[in-house]
Amino acid sequence: MAYIIGLTGGIGSGKSTIADLFAELGVPIVDADVVAREVVAPGSPLLVQIAEYFGQQVITAEGVLDRAALRQIVFADKEKTEWLNQLLHPAIRQRMLSQLQQQTALYVLWVVPLLIENKLTEYCDRVLVVDVSEAVQLQRAVRRDNNNIQQIKKIMQAQVGRQQRLAKADDVINNDRILSESKNDLRAQVLQLHQHYLALAGKKHEK
Ligand code: ADP
Repeated sequence: MAYIIGLTGGIGSGKSTIADLFAELGVPIVDADVVAREVVAPGSPLLVQIAEYFGQQVITAEGVLDRAALRQIVFADKEKTEWLNQLLHPAIRQRMLSQLQQQTALYVLWVVPLLIENKLTEYCDRVLVVDVSEAVQLQRAVRRDNNNIQQIKKIMQAQVGRQQRLAKADDVINNDRILSESKNDLRAQVLQLHQHYLALAGKKHEK
């Protein structure tokens, strides 16, 4: 079993940005957002169940899940949200764990926005937190998602707070500085962590 590094951080903190730097070093990535799309891929049993429950209006002409349409329907409907979560969450978790188990590299980076909220830290050998100030987080998330401030604030409130997240961290990368000025430093930090993780993973492997 590969050594598992859980990478987490709030919305817009820079998880994807940092994960890309690990990927550049050849580190395999298991990404919760990717897996969440895979479980409802066209033709998947879960997509069939979703179409049966919500109707064809949540499926596009191309046979893909229409996430915006689905969001509209489940929005403010507790029962439907619950139904959807009970269908998706176990499937996503199972698929992530199976992907983690299949890794042959010394360590794997597991990118999970809600790692702490969903108590997935127990599956990690180590937790790496991408940390930014709330002001920076809000600004970047709003800009990236073309969302209004209120929507992003609501998502931030549903996630654990900065201090709570940091309390679970074994390692922290701060991502407050703008990328054009900090990319080389971030690369250096990632390289240092990479070497540290290889050493830790190697030790575990020897046991
Ligand atoms: P997450 O995956 O945690 O939601 P992203 O890596 O997608 O966060 O980053 C959020 C947004 O902010 C993206 O548009 C990304 O390009 C941008 N971004 C990330 N880090 C920086 C940075 N240090 N400086 C400027 N922009 C950044």
